[in-house]
Amino acid sequence: MNIRLFKPSLGQEELDNLKEVFDRAWLGNGPTVVKFEEAWCQYIGSKISIGVNSATAALHLALTAFHFPEGKKVLVPAITFASTATAVLYNRLIPVFVDVDPETVSMDLNDLRKKYDSDCVAVIPVHNGGYPVPMDILMDLANELNLKVIEDCAHCAGGEYKGKKLGTWGHIGCFSFEEKKLMTTGDGGMICSDDEELIAPLRAYRWVGIDKDTWRRAENANHLAENEAMHWHYEISVLGYKYNMNDVAAAIGLAQVKKLDMMNARRASIIKKYLEGIKGFEYIKEIFPYDNENGAYWFFGIRCKKRDELIIFLKSKGISTGVHFYPLTLQPLFRKYAYDCPVAEEIWKSFITLPSHIDLNDEEINYIISTVKKFEF
Ligand SMILES: *Cc1c(COP(=O)(O)O)cnc(C)c1O
Repeated sequence: MNIRLFKPSLGQEELDNLKEVFDRAWLGNGPTVVKFEEAWCQYIGSKISIGVNSATAALHLALTAFHFPEGKKVLVPAITFASTATAVLYNRLIPVFVDVDPETVSMDLNDLRKKYDSDCVAVIPVHNGGYPVPMDILMDLANELNLKVIEDCAHCAGGEYKGKKLGTWGHIGCFSFEEKKLMTTGDGGMICSDDEELIAPLRAYRWVGIDKDTWRRAENANHLAENEAMHWHYEISVLGYKYNMNDVAAAIGLAQVKKLDMMNARRASIIKKYLEGIKGFEYIKEIFPYDNENGAYWFFGIRCKKRDELIIFLKSKGISTGVHFYPLTLQPLFRKYAYDCPVAEEIWKSFITLPSHIDLNDEEINYIISTVKKFEF
């Protein structure tokens, strides 16, 4: 056995869509990106979606949309992937790390209130592992404190909280389509919102500041009168980035979004098998409560006191594992912003992520469960 921790699930539908893009021979930022953005709006139920080349870019630009003055503060959880906090630094803002709840491993809203001061302008809740931050409570708190809310939905594409899609609760939602995430475009991300005025300007920011897409100008060139020479014209009035999604990625995304609910359902059934497998087991328990019916969970994690020994044992049996995540407050880059996140800095030591990608078969899942149980605690 040699079981991967993550693996994208791809098929004929993705290939068919790619063939169309190849036949059109327009691989860059083109009409397929627009089609995917429209499909995403439909799926998630937001008014506007903007495709970018990663969630890292999405988070960077989502903060840029608000034009916060340099040096203001943004609240982020201590346990998350680096991008949640690097997005803050890219915008010349200061990350304020909020400790996590010991049970759910997501932002502790009491600690958020404690860490808040009048320089705080925004909060980036992360639905860590797919476990939803209680967005109704968070939005009330954000309204009270006058904080903008950017949801980091890198782990929960398709997930819901209280019947409403994650990513549509806050002012802006950011998604990742990196190859390990719930659905993929190779690399890719999406920014979505109901506030068109707020995020429409990000189209220029993702395209080196240019206010018109090249493919629209190319299309336009054919429609303009023969003596009209200005089809090439565009304006640059903001400092933009090369963050656009391309048509190759969007073609894969169009196929993946159609399968997303099915893929999330398969992951839910794998997690159910794991939960049944470890039930009543003394030495390990699930990393957080997998009790939300509408959840789209990115991974199945466990907690184990002999974490490192178990990782090595599983490795010797051909089972890859991971740790999600080492607290950012312990990273050299962020250490100077770190203060008072004792829960995060303790509980991560027991975290192990087990394989839960949807191409795992029942035999492999049973093998992983029985191998975990063979470990000498
Ligand atoms: C993966 C991840 C990101 C970044 O996604 P990319 O698309 O790889 O840039 C951001 N936030 C969290 C919580 C992630 O896990």
